[in-house]
Amino acid sequence: RAEIAFIGRSNVGKSSLINMLTGVKELAKTSQKPGKTQLINHFMIDDRWYLVDLPGYGFAKVSKDTKDKWEKMISSYLTGRDNLCGVFVLIDSRLEPQKIDLEFLNWCGEEGVPFVVVFTKADKQSKTQTDKNVKAFLNKMEDIFGDIPDYFVTSAEKGSGKDEVLQFVDELISEYESERT
Ligand code: GDP
Repeated sequence: RAEIAFIGRSNVGKSSLINMLTGVKELAKTSQKPGKTQLINHFMIDDRWYLVDLPGYGFAKVSKDTKDKWEKMISSYLTGRDNLCGVFVLIDSRLEPQKIDLEFLNWCGEEGVPFVVVFTKADKQSKTQTDKNVKAFLNKMEDIFGDIPDYFVTSAEKGSGKDEVLQFVDELISEYESERT
């Protein structure tokens, strides 16, 4: 079965997004405490795909040991999975481009991880501000990659971006299925 993964800094709104996409209220637990959920969670959505909830990166307060363990776990998952069709990397639309996100995306690019970007919490500020932040981030991406990735702007609060993301998920799975037959 196809797998599609979700990852981002802690508190980026990953659980909220997953819950919005699946329509299940408490599928992914919101506001995880650092160090609590370190596992890779697979949720079977239907007979076509698994949604994979990867642990958040970028906790300031964990030990180097814990950080290394996470990185190892995440990187071996992301690079060693034949049925991984796409990785949604979540970016907080309120923030200016963050080094840790850009580094992670750069790593994905180098490793050939098939990522797309999701800007979260778009309802938290004006549309103008969201557009500005999204544009700034995409400009940084273009500097790094010479290219702009596929991206989505979402709000779990308002339910916006849901159809677009699910449509893309469907395309990824269809592509995966047609390659296998
Ligand atoms: P996670 O740690 O990445 O799983 O983030 P959560 O989904 O737990 O969200 C962190 C906090 O941001 C929670 O208080 C959520 O209610 C809030 N949040 C998440 N998504 C949105 C959104 O789209 N809009 C608003 N206004 N708040 C959000």
